[in-house]
Amino acid sequence: MQFRDLKKQYQVLKPRIDAAVIQVMTDCNFISGKQVSELEHRLAEYVGVKYCVSCANGTDALELAERVYGIGEGDAIFVPDFTFFSSAETVADLGATPIFVDVDPKTFNISPAALEKAVMKVRALSGLRPRAVVTVDLFGLPADYPAIERIARENGLLIIEDGAQGFGGRIGERRACSFGDIATTSFFPAKPLGCYGDGGAVFTNDDDIAAMLRSLRVHGKSESDKYDNLRLGMNSRLDTIQAAVLDVKLTAFEEYELEQVNRAAELYSQRLAGYLEVPEIAGGFSSSWAQYTVKLPDREKRDALQKQLAAEGIPTMIYYPKCMHQQGAFASLPYGGDCPEAEQLCGRVLALPMHPYLEEAEIDFICDNIKSCL
Ligand SMILES: *Cc1c(COP(=O)(O)O)cnc(C)c1O
Repeated sequence: MQFRDLKKQYQVLKPRIDAAVIQVMTDCNFISGKQVSELEHRLAEYVGVKYCVSCANGTDALELAERVYGIGEGDAIFVPDFTFFSSAETVADLGATPIFVDVDPKTFNISPAALEKAVMKVRALSGLRPRAVVTVDLFGLPADYPAIERIARENGLLIIEDGAQGFGGRIGERRACSFGDIATTSFFPAKPLGCYGDGGAVFTNDDDIAAMLRSLRVHGKSESDKYDNLRLGMNSRLDTIQAAVLDVKLTAFEEYELEQVNRAAELYSQRLAGYLEVPEIAGGFSSSWAQYTVKLPDREKRDALQKQLAAEGIPTMIYYPKCMHQQGAFASLPYGGDCPEAEQLCGRVLALPMHPYLEEAEIDFICDNIKSCL
């Protein structure tokens, strides 16, 4: 059994993916082929924004989004304490100060109440300027944007949506990667929409920001001339082969994959509710199930269950074993650490196999094993 079965997905999509990749090799348009701009149009339309600017990976997407707004020294950037390292890494890389904010243990996402408190604390105690919040759509579930948008408005904060895991999620009719002032995603193979290598994208409704992103991703070039460098930039492009793969995968995602992961989540929750804490999705919200994460009462029980499942051939993962404020790379940061919920989660969470090709019999096997272990 696979945790995320990319082999099965390839078997299903093989004829279309092979043809798309061979076309790129036949044309030899490996960088900036027409498949890249075609994909950007499809992605922008799917999430419901004006522009998608693709790039080399989800981490670069965050850096591009932060650079385009000039985030740097003296800026306080609020980041959930329970997330993948990139969400805070790019902030610190640019010389800004990440301020870690506790999360809501029910949604795993940034807690609006904790965010409000953290903004007040930074204003009162530091010389830093509260500048932006990086909202992560963790495990596929959009953050609480209605609440966060109000806090951001009242405090003059930019919202940077880290939708690396969120692609396909929704609040009402609004799709993930359309929230905030600017949004990013990742096409790392294991994400909800993954390519066959590294890839990422930035989403914006702003004409000037989109133009600036296109410049920054190719060495700060001018609009018309690659060898006229107006500013310092990056080398961060999505290559044409990845765009060709994503074009096929986006169709499958739209046609049935998103539906299938939601069906798998529903089957899990029906079978496991009452045995351990299953994920809860608030009314109006919809997840793309980058992960299906359950909670055990404590670390000892979680670790024991993981070990017993592994012995039965059932792979599970711990996202995340360490929160941001506990990472060695951030040991010298002056603020943060007041995140008891995030700390607790690190000891209690367990992610179960989740992907669109998971069969009901496999879910039964996993759930039966969990019940007998408990
Ligand atoms: C995966 C991930 C990223 C980084 O994406 P890469 O494509 O691996 O660089 C950023 N933020 C979150 C929340 C992620 O899960």
